[in-house]
Amino acid sequence: MQNTDISFRSMLMKAVTPTLDLNTDTKVLLLSCIDYRYPQRIIETMEEEGFSGRYYHLALAGASHAGNSSKHDGIWHKTLFDHIDFAVCEARVAGVVIIDHLDCKAFQLYEGVDEGDLETERKKHKEVATKLVGEIVERFYKLANNIEVLLLPKE
Ligand SMILES: [Zn+2]
Repeated sequence: MQNTDISFRSMLMKAVTPTLDLNTDTKVLLLSCIDYRYPQRIIETMEEEGFSGRYYHLALAGASHAGNSSKHDGIWHKTLFDHIDFAVCEARVAGVVIIDHLDCKAFQLYEGVDEGDLETERKKHKEVATKLVGEIVERFYKLANNIEVLLLPKE
């Protein structure tokens, strides 16, 4: 567990640092899955690393999956982009970190991945997240260099 946490911490720090180093008052939007294993760890890590007040955390089932406009009648997609728009326009957010994880129930239920088939799931995360990154860049060009995708391992 300790090794996992060190790895999680270093992955998260590597992903947020480019955005937070831009300026002393820039903020980063963290998009994670609602899965109970992650939100608390994300917040604890950001606070312990001294980034209190430098991030917003949005949790939606499947993280990048929420940006898939072909699912849920486009409602999750709209919710996600409304939040990104708000964060960028009103809250000085200059980057987005998409925090997906393997063994994700949302990918199994909604993206057609069989439970335990981690290779297929890994490819699906990449496909869905890459499409989402493209759409964020299209809509918020100034974020283009500061969008990161993490795929956390199965625990
Ligand atoms: Zn999940």
